[in-house]
Amino acid sequence: MNDVIIAGAGPNGLMLACELAMAGVQSVVLDPSAGPNPEPRANGMVGQVVALLDRRGVYERMAGSPGPPSPATGHVFSGFRVDFSGLANNPMYLLKVPQLRIVQVLAARAADLGVDVRWGHALAGFTQDADGVRVQASGREKSGQDGPIVLSGGFLVGADGGHSLTRKLAGIDFPGVSSDATVSRTAYAHVPEAWVDSATGALDVPGFGRVPPLLHYRTEHGVFVWAPFPDRAPLIATLEWDRPADEDAPMTLEELRASIGRVLRADVPLSEPTGDGPRLLRRVVGANSRLASRFREDRVLLLGDAAHVHSAIGGPGLNLGLQDAVNLGWKLAGVVHGWIDATLLDTYESERRPVSERVLMHTRAQSALIAPGSEVTALRELFAELLRDPHTVQYIADLLSGADIRYPAAPGAHPLVGRWVPDFTINTSEGARRLAELSHDAQPLLVDLTTDGAITRMIDGRPDRIAVIAGRPVGEVAASALLVRPDGYVAWASSERRPDTAELDAATRKWFGVSLIDQSHAAAKTG
Ligand SMILES: Cc1cc2nc3c(=O)[nH]c(=O)nc-3n(C[C@H](O)[C@H](O)[C@H](O)COP(=O)(O)OP(=O)(O)OC[C@H]3O[C@@H](n4cnc5c(N)ncnc54)[C@H](O)[C@@H]3O)c2cc1C
Repeated sequence: MNDVIIAGAGPNGLMLACELAMAGVQSVVLDPSAGPNPEPRANGMVGQVVALLDRRGVYERMAGSPGPPSPATGHVFSGFRVDFSGLANNPMYLLKVPQLRIVQVLAARAADLGVDVRWGHALAGFTQDADGVRVQASGREKSGQDGPIVLSGGFLVGADGGHSLTRKLAGIDFPGVSSDATVSRTAYAHVPEAWVDSATGALDVPGFGRVPPLLHYRTEHGVFVWAPFPDRAPLIATLEWDRPADEDAPMTLEELRASIGRVLRADVPLSEPTGDGPRLLRRVVGANSRLASRFREDRVLLLGDAAHVHSAIGGPGLNLGLQDAVNLGWKLAGVVHGWIDATLLDTYESERRPVSERVLMHTRAQSALIAPGSEVTALRELFAELLRDPHTVQYIADLLSGADIRYPAAPGAHPLVGRWVPDFTINTSEGARRLAELSHDAQPLLVDLTTDGAITRMIDGRPDRIAVIAGRPVGEVAASALLVRPDGYVAWASSERRPDTAELDAATRKWFGVSLIDQSHAAAKTG
């Protein structure tokens, strides 16, 4: 019997498998593909997820460069370039990395952690009862025989993408909006070399003018995207409204060129990419913005695109999905280990649904704000004026990065409770360590920053479920002690010189099913 069966070895399913493995929970991951899916999708990650990768020690591997991530000087919102460089508190991080590389790194990490990833196996059906789940999977047996296999497990997680069969078989609705008003066309292609400004990367189109790079560039007739990359052919795309397309005809570079002609009212000759970089000719009619009516049906949970789909504008998908995975991982592990009641799993939805709703909200808003029409043009003029206000810029940075998230916290709780803990350095007895480094193995952290180790002195024995870190912070930290969940969110905090250990004890019991504090000594030691 497997602890957890995961349908889908996309980024989110693999991330969950890694989180579970680090928490000592064994999972098997099924995916019908022969290996990591080479279909070009994400070109990067946006927001807090980049810092999360740093906290799992995989940032450098994905970025291909040493050191922690630095805040990004700007990003895009509905085709507006928003400058974050002047923000007092800049929460935005960006990581340019193609989705194939993300999946390859996560698949290699899962293999290192001993996860059983079964490529070539698709979930085909399942049943569940009080004791567990039974999953039927089509595919090839490890023995080499073709044919279906049956796996039993404690839980099933559907990380099988927007068309999730898990979601459908669980009878979970997927309400939202589907529209067939738009047609997007995307390809890797070369343009005349002389048109590319080497200093800025902009494209100078004769008869039209300059198109900035890496932006949804809006005209009165649609949207044009020009995305040059150092290591592959440029990605070129258009988005048009209310122009029916022949969905059965194969997509061609000529079709994209004609579309660019309509959007820019100028001709941009395109040629096939050279070299062995990725190839793509994609036409997508319509758009979906949907959220599962619930994220859990007893022993079956939904993760990532299986739970929510939305426009890819601005690239928010993996910031949402990978943080779903780390939110769910330690909770599911606690339940599988029997440390904590299964009702803890309800907090997966109560915490992540509002975050998903905000992503649907801002991607729908961005889609509306980039559509054609004179009213939209007027709205954009107004929005451009609003963006001159640093408060609006901070608001957008917090919204896109996820820094505005606060999970439910009890009335009167410390202001950090429910918030993502910022990274900071602690001078410990073993030297200076960043909180991010201390988070690599996904354990809960009890961080004692009191001058005299007031919390550490009250710990009952050597806890194995929670890592205790004592030391002095480098710089200002808005707490004297913190309990940080494996997903980086604060479960408890105090700013007192003598923190209230009864509150801390309630928090470790609630989230991790364990008591650290020896209450018989606590009163005497705090006295
Ligand atoms: C064109 C495009 C551009 C994007 N750009 C960005 C971007 O720049 N930044 C960003 O953050 N996000 C971007 N996204 C969104 C991002 O790609 C998704 O949010 C992400 O892929 C979701 O990951 P997932 O693991 O939930 O699902 P998926 O990546 O869809 O993976 C699902 C997996 O499930 C498998 N599967 C399917 N059926 C079954 C079955 N029956 N049994 C078992 N396995 C099954 C599939 O083979 C697949 O491997 C983009 C999306 C698109 C379409």
